Amino acid sequence: MSADCLFCKIVEGKIPASKTFENDNVIGFVDIHPQAKIHLLFVHKTHTADINELSGDPKSLGEIFQAITEYTKAQGLDKNGFRVVTNLGKHAGQTVFHTHFHVLSGEHLGRFGS
Ligand code: 5GP
Ligand code: ZN
Repeated sequence: MSADCLFCKIVEGKIPASKTFENDNVIGFVDIHPQAKIHLLFVHKTHTADINELSGDPKSLGEIFQAITEYTKAQGLDKNGFRVVTNLGKHAGQTVFHTHFHVLSGEHLGRFGS
């Protein structure tokens, strides 16, 4: 838990979120400003700021991807496909500094980048 971290507060249930997935280590919830028909965020319950910090803990990194695989398979999202995105820093537009993976699906997604 990191004081004043929005996603730590969601993990702890102090701020409400529409949770779609939870196990001992990871939660998935609906993004408040969806950029696709399905737009979820997967976060580890242990706080890290970004993917660089999370990469120092490969077990947790694996647990997030296992959760994404489990959820997307259970929902059949792998049939038509989905996208996983993580942002690090200013140029990528990271706004919440608790590592999270966007999972976008449910429709044909445009190409990214500009
Ligand atoms: P980033 O820009 O850091 O990659 O992604 C942060 C994401 O968190 C954004 O897509 C934003 O819509 C989402 N977000 C910000 N505040 C909240 C919140 O209070 N609840 C939920 N569910 N999503 C949030
Ligand atoms: Zn946090």
